[in-house]
Amino acid sequence: MPDQVIVFTDLDGTLLDYYTYSFEASKEGIELLRSHRVPLIFCTSKSYAEVIHFREETGNTSPFIVENGGAIYLPREQIEQFKPFVKADRLKQSGDYAALELGADYATLRRVFEQMKKAFGNSVTGFGDMSVEEVSRYLNLAPRLAAMAKVRRHDEPFILRDPSLLESIQQLSRQNGLKVYPGTRFYHLMGNTDKGEAVKELISLYKKVYGTIVSVAIGEGKNDEPMFRQVDVPFLVQKPGGSFTDVTLDRITRINAVGPYGFTFAVKALLNRSIKL
Ligand SMILES: [Mg+2]
Repeated sequence: MPDQVIVFTDLDGTLLDYYTYSFEASKEGIELLRSHRVPLIFCTSKSYAEVIHFREETGNTSPFIVENGGAIYLPREQIEQFKPFVKADRLKQSGDYAALELGADYATLRRVFEQMKKAFGNSVTGFGDMSVEEVSRYLNLAPRLAAMAKVRRHDEPFILRDPSLLESIQQLSRQNGLKVYPGTRFYHLMGNTDKGEAVKELISLYKKVYGTIVSVAIGEGKNDEPMFRQVDVPFLVQKPGGSFTDVTLDRITRINAVGPYGFTFAVKALLNRSIKL
């Protein structure tokens, strides 16, 4: 019997078109995974509310990782299978999901961000400082989705207008036990976690449930690199315009197609290969 395969995917610029957030081109890959009963696990810098929206849009029922590894959410129907392997006090009920929190809480992030604003003035603007209209304009998102994007729990995305300040900003966040990481569109202030930490934790849970598994990741951004390092089979798709993010990982497979088109190609490459497993 072939091993259980699980696929992690980034959303912005990978499953979703960078500019329009459409998943038209990734639909074929999504359907192929569904017909092979391969869980597709969203692993994104997006917020909980946004991910819930895109799970419904794409008919996804798998666990998911939000806010750059800030938390893992397990759907109610799947909690029982993972529960024996997680300390009870680590699971927080959140609507129809149980949350495993890995990142700092938002109030702490905002406290440190206020210090950053004091030190660097108008060079930094966080989501918490922007109105729904501003986020909507900046991200080219419908106001309803922009409002969802603003509800953060473990990660503060921010605009950095003067990149020469990055080193000082990183220093200030380190002094406060936090870190700054570049995402697809923003820099992110977050706790001591990343996509890789969350992926590692979820892979270990799947291994406890299924025994051997084959883990796969598909992404396009620099913040996907920690995720790539944790999986057996990493795929890098192209950014808009056809270039690749600079990723220093020898065993990565580069897919010559942009974003969601690349996603579908990666799934096809994976399934062709998995027949031989
Ligand atoms: Mg991305």
